[in-house]
Amino acid sequence: GKAEMERHAESKVIVAVRVRPLSEDEQERNEESIVFCPDEHNLLVSQEGLVERAFSFNMVFRPECSQQEIFQTTGMRKLIDMAIEGYTCTVFAFGQTGSGKTYTITGPHSLFSEDSQESELEGLMQRSVAYLLERVQHSDELFQLCASYSEIYNEQVRDLLNPWLTYSLAVRGSTTSGFYVENLSVVEFCNLEGFMTLLERGMQNRQSSSQTQNEHSSRSHSILTLYIKHTLTGAEPVAVARGKLCIVDLARGSERVKDRDSDTEKLLEETGNINRSLLTLGKCITALVDPKKRTGHIPYRDSKLTMLLSDSLGGEGITLMIACVSPTAGNLQETMNTLRYSSKAK
Ligand code: ADP
Ligand code: MG
Repeated sequence: GKAEMERHAESKVIVAVRVRPLSEDEQERNEESIVFCPDEHNLLVSQEGLVERAFSFNMVFRPECSQQEIFQTTGMRKLIDMAIEGYTCTVFAFGQTGSGKTYTITGPHSLFSEDSQESELEGLMQRSVAYLLERVQHSDELFQLCASYSEIYNEQVRDLLNPWLTYSLAVRGSTTSGFYVENLSVVEFCNLEGFMTLLERGMQNRQSSSQTQNEHSSRSHSILTLYIKHTLTGAEPVAVARGKLCIVDLARGSERVKDRDSDTEKLLEETGNINRSLLTLGKCITALVDPKKRTGHIPYRDSKLTMLLSDSLGGEGITLMIACVSPTAGNLQETMNTLRYSSKAK
């Protein structure tokens, strides 16, 4: 309802932080956690008994938080409910490589293995689609659900549902009429199986494009968009709402390029592009959360990522940022970068 929308208006951007558990390797090396979560809003980075810095966020998730709790507590259902009403909402996972972005969005990669006994590890993407389908199936109104899945790698857009297209897709449009990816496949699905087939195909295409899978996926942004066309049959004349939910696994750019990397120049160019798109994203969000700047110039055009997300960022829907951090001392610098970046978006 309207009152509910007005309440959302106060918190258009919600920032959550998730701290991943120590990995087995880290435990074997006796590494200790330096990130502490005293309660569900506060987070401390503390080394050798000294507090480096205290932060507060809309939500803080401890390492032991389950995938289900993340889905529940971040309010994903509310975002999907809004998308059904015609709004555009967005979820980002953000953070250094190995901090749990992909785990949060899609779950561990082994999920697509033969024995899929791991449904409790499924990420936000599968849970969101399951909830969306449940809402649609229990409604008397008409719905059409479609999905697109694209990737931005080094400022080039690839269609993950159509890997036969080897060229980069063009981004067209303007700040006033909206941006879109030319020729991007938008595929209809009617049930969870249909969606999972799409997702699996997209994820395979994301990985097969590079010999070094992790390297590639950590340096590209992937964007899954769910398009919800909702025909309100009770209304006279019949009304149609078109909403969207974007689920984004962001690349992390600030990491230093190691000397032993063979093709340093190419990596530097890529890192520059990733950093630029994250910087632009940060600038857009900072401007949008400031009521004085919100109506002014927002620099969407400065990166492909922000062009593609301009309607969701600039619209009335909710943007949920999930900052993922690793718990160990060795990651202190990157953790601080992530937390500082996220703090600015509140
Ligand atoms: P990123 O996408 O940020 O590079 P991943 O999601 O691939 O990071 O996570 C790195 C590793 O840590 C993976 O093996 C993943 O399964 C594991 N991991 C991440 N977050 C969690 C978590 N909350 N619980 C258990 N394992 C996790
Ligand atoms: Mg990843």
